Amino acid sequence: MPDPNGFLRYDRRLPARRPVPVRISDWREVYPPAGEDLVREQATRCMDCGIPFCHDGCPLGNRIPDWNDLVRTGNWDAAVESLHATNNFPEFTGRLCPAPCEAACVLGIAGGQPVTIKQVEVEIADAAAARGFTPSPVPAPSGRSVAVVGSGPAGLAAAQQLARAGHAVTVYERDDAIGGLLRYGIPDFKLEKRHIDARLAQLAAEGVRFRTGVNVGVDVTAEQLRAEHDAVLLACGALQGRDTPETPGRPLRGVHQAMAHLVAANRAVATAASDGPGVAATGAGRPARAVLPDGTPIDAAGKHVVIIGGGDTAADCLGVAHRQGAAACTSSTCTRDRRTSATRRGTRGRPGRGSCAATRRTRRAASGSSPSRCRSSWTTAPARCGRYGSPR
Ligand SMILES: Cc1cc2nc3c(=O)[nH]c(=O)nc-3n(C[C@H](O)[C@H](O)[C@H](O)COP(=O)(O)OP(=O)(O)OC[C@H]3O[C@@H](n4cnc5c(N)ncnc54)[C@H](O)[C@@H]3O)c2cc1C
Ligand code: SF4
Repeated sequence: MPDPNGFLRYDRRLPARRPVPVRISDWREVYPPAGEDLVREQATRCMDCGIPFCHDGCPLGNRIPDWNDLVRTGNWDAAVESLHATNNFPEFTGRLCPAPCEAACVLGIAGGQPVTIKQVEVEIADAAAARGFTPSPVPAPSGRSVAVVGSGPAGLAAAQQLARAGHAVTVYERDDAIGGLLRYGIPDFKLEKRHIDARLAQLAAEGVRFRTGVNVGVDVTAEQLRAEHDAVLLACGALQGRDTPETPGRPLRGVHQAMAHLVAANRAVATAASDGPGVAATGAGRPARAVLPDGTPIDAAGKHVVIIGGGDTAADCLGVAHRQGAAACTSSTCTRDRRTSATRRGTRGRPGRGSCAATRRTRRAASGSSPSRCRSSWTTAPARCGRYGSPR
């Protein structure tokens, strides 16, 4: 029976983010662990609603009230089991998911502050990781084999479930490392790559085989895969960015799409990390300059950066630019709402003046006119970040 008065006794609280000057000097995650007392306190706020809207808000159908109560009572092993019953990789979702469960939480829709569901989730996942992810017992082989094309979270979750059903699973990935966008799209300050590696060790122990550097359709044909396996599962993601070739100045030197910037930066951090344990993560050595596949440098160090767009990917670019040592960043967006992802993460903002005007101005900014003339813009310099908020 959950505590019926928990939400009356405790306000919503999250652990303080690492201080701005510290976190922009390395690539480690922005959010520190909450600590057991805080997590149990926050889990106590859950009312175990008769109709738990949080459960409905979660695309995975996570059993949120159940594991909130297990955390409240300190029953961590059962909480780990309950969370993994619906979620293969809660250490990813607990860090990255936009948490529609919290938007749906009855405490929130009743005008109060929702339960910190995402924080509780990541703490349970980290408790499981700290004990080591135990591989599931190998089931009797089904005699069937499955090829999974793509090693993002979708491919990996499917591979794990298929292996646990007794099938022989091989994951084909065209990149040089497993993880999809988790590996080279999302920066380390949102998801340190050790979390992917820990989970991959579990998958490998459960019998999943990985083949990197295999571009299906080029290095191996679909017919070959069909001949070799009983089933082929496509989990190739949606990696195509939206370009705007009609924008004046788009072909100019120094104008890039977000993924070119992020992937190059992530690769540089990964390379530095492989040079020595924790080098990139601790900031003990600044990673080598990020480069495009053809060797062209794409590094924000010392540069004045204009970011067009204000969503999560823009915020990731902002955080990367800060850590690379950008002289200043200007974030430009069409929205009238100044609380975009980028501004929430520390750029100074003025709301835009409507989509069309703002779009024209961002195009002007991209084509080389002064960012200060872009009326719908947010500017930040690392030295001033603390005054305006907390950049990633
Ligand atoms: C910058 C950025 C930040 C993001 N941040 C968040 C966030 O904070 N929270 C959140 O919930 N979501 C976030 N997302 C979205 C999230 O990363 C994706 O929704 C998720 O990764 C999709 O998973 P997936 O497995 O479908 O595909 P992907 O992760 O895209 O993986 C697909 C994999 O398939 C491989 N592949 C494709 N074609 C072939 C082929 N022919 N042969 C072999 N391999 C192939 C690709 O190389 C890739 O590794 C972010 C995305 C980006 C780009
Ligand atoms: S909606 Fe909120 S309070 Fe109700 S069960 Fe879910 S997390 Fe708990």
